[in-house]
Amino acid sequence: MKHKLCVVGFGGMGGWHVNHALKSDVVELAGIVDIDEAKRKKARDMGIRVYETLADALADESIEIITIATPNDVHEEIAIAAMEAGKNVISEKPVTLSCASLLRMIDASNRTGKLFTVHQNRRWDVDYLAVKQLKESGELGKLLTVESRIHGSRGIPSDWRGIKRFGGGMLYDWGIHLIDQIMQIFTQKTSSVYCTFDHITNNEVDDGFKLTITFEDGATAYVEVGTYNFVAMPRFYVRAKNGSAIITDWTKNCEVVKCKAWHESDVVPVQTAAGLTKTMAPRDEITTDTYKLDIPKSDVHDYYRNICATLEGKAEQIVKHDEMLRVLRVIEAAFKSVETGNVVKCEL
Ligand code: NAD
Repeated sequence: MKHKLCVVGFGGMGGWHVNHALKSDVVELAGIVDIDEAKRKKARDMGIRVYETLADALADESIEIITIATPNDVHEEIAIAAMEAGKNVISEKPVTLSCASLLRMIDASNRTGKLFTVHQNRRWDVDYLAVKQLKESGELGKLLTVESRIHGSRGIPSDWRGIKRFGGGMLYDWGIHLIDQIMQIFTQKTSSVYCTFDHITNNEVDDGFKLTITFEDGATAYVEVGTYNFVAMPRFYVRAKNGSAIITDWTKNCEVVKCKAWHESDVVPVQTAAGLTKTMAPRDEITTDTYKLDIPKSDVHDYYRNICATLEGKAEQIVKHDEMLRVLRVIEAAFKSVETGNVVKCEL
């Protein structure tokens, strides 16, 4: 049996959901809701049913799942109304803009017994999966630092993403994906957060940021989003007890250099233009192994498959309430750090 879905917000990501939810082969589309007549016409032209209002969609008893793909500031009101009308809810990321708002949404889920989750689809990105698998395999020992970067050069989009009241800014946009990934890689307790914002193409919201999360055991995660980087830095860089790893681009393999012997009998100094160094001399194959990991297998359509299996009592939802809250707490601490210019205590 396929589960009936209605997508609220038929813009860029709403279109993605209509396409990809159907490709997962577990849902069928009941229709869409959008407040913009141009989007409604587009849907009608594609043969998609358009509900005149959200209330009309919520009154359709055949609909089981509402996916919210509107700008970020209205996720909460739509999600709570949908759960109260007996619908299960998938919200686009960021699930909402504050922890207080998220707690109200979680409360609605608990009260109504309806499934409520967020579309953290980048848990299916193969670059992230490679780093997670590297950690879980233990082959480089304890991770000391993970640097996760996304660099573009087109500035922040000129739509609602550049406007504060809609929940714009890159911390809420790409940041929430990268922080969610980091919190899946590092599951130990956090201790503090430090963040700075860029304002290169937009003064109202951050058009890039640099965030350091420090964990209780001294490990650190560095997350950076830049929209004014004409040369991109590597997507992931990992330092671990027994080696390092790099993923230069999200389509590339994870390259690993593993230390197999700490000491070399004879280090050959390296001559640079103006000097000599033994400390920074590159290692050779006597003390290190260099290899590439296979690109992990991943199918983002498993997201909807998991939601439907959860509704059928056969699985547990992958993106859980406590995980959503942990990520949003880091984001709140990051805003506080920017506001005060300080490292902010953040024990999660
Ligand atoms: P968009 O501007 O392209 O589309 C938003 C749509 O929502 C528009 O058609 C607009 O008319 C409609 N809308 C606005 N308010 C509404 C309301 N109250 N009721 C019904 N419709 C309403 O934006 P987008 O890029 O599609 O982003 C939408 C959401 O998806 C955002 O939360 C964004 O962060 C998220 N998103 C997620 C990913 C991802 O990879 N998970 C990628 C892009 C966007």
